[in-house]
Amino acid sequence: MTKVIINGANGRMGEALLRCGEANPNIEIVAGVDVGDDLAGVIAQADAVIDFSFHEVTRPTAELCAAHKKALVIGTTGHSARDKESVLKLQSEIPIVWASNFSTGVNTLFWLTRKATEVLGADFDLEVVEMHHRLKRDAPSGTAATLAEILAKVRKVSLEKELRHGREGIVGERTHSEIGMHSLRGGDVVGDHTVVYAGNGERLELTHKAASRDTFANGALRAAIWACGQAPGLYNMENVLGLE
Ligand code: NAD
Repeated sequence: MTKVIINGANGRMGEALLRCGEANPNIEIVAGVDVGDDLAGVIAQADAVIDFSFHEVTRPTAELCAAHKKALVIGTTGHSARDKESVLKLQSEIPIVWASNFSTGVNTLFWLTRKATEVLGADFDLEVVEMHHRLKRDAPSGTAATLAEILAKVRKVSLEKELRHGREGIVGERTHSEIGMHSLRGGDVVGDHTVVYAGNGERLELTHKAASRDTFANGALRAAIWACGQAPGLYNMENVLGLE
């Protein structure tokens, strides 16, 4: 039985994690923590902390986990480069599973994206399109950012240089190496992601659509169980699923 604390327990993902955790025979939720609660006061009871809160909250949460030698699962997105760097330093002290998306389908999409980009080669133009509910605060989504990282890595280009967020005005012709990124917002969309490979005379689109947050919650709970058996280090959901 893996004992977990949910950080961000009153949020949309927190609600799904508490519900799916209660239904999972291998999980015991020892606490749900949100704004105003004291994570430090309960962390000793847990084996792992699952963080789906707010980008500024992940760093202090990770520091607390490292101080108490607890495994950490990070689902929160939208971190600054500085926050990311500080959290990454803690990988030598505790197991950290950090994934922009915990669904099995999206992690398969990551794998397929890597393969398709390798197979199609440099003749295809690359664009990423994502859509989320109107309440999402960060853009592009963490998942879309991961997809762009995969594209840039396989193409061996600098993402910083080649990422093109949306287009407006007289932007000129598309360069061959740029990677387009487009964020749509509206309604109650849980999370849609498409990678477009546009070639001459043909177009391939890889699309994943999440219809329920339970898919992320169950993936994060699985990651927490897995993380508790691992040496300190940085892992992603592809490691948890054995896809890499
Ligand atoms: P939400 O706004 O509904 O919930 C966030 C919760 O965190 C809120 O209840 C808020 O009060 C709480 N919170 C804020 N500060 C806190 C603090 N100091 N301590 C504890 N709790 C605090 O958001 P959401 O839709 O549940 O998403 C949460 C995060 O998870 C976002 O960054 C989102 O992008 C990300 N997300 C990731 C995945 C994934 O698979 N990795 C899936 C869905 C959402």
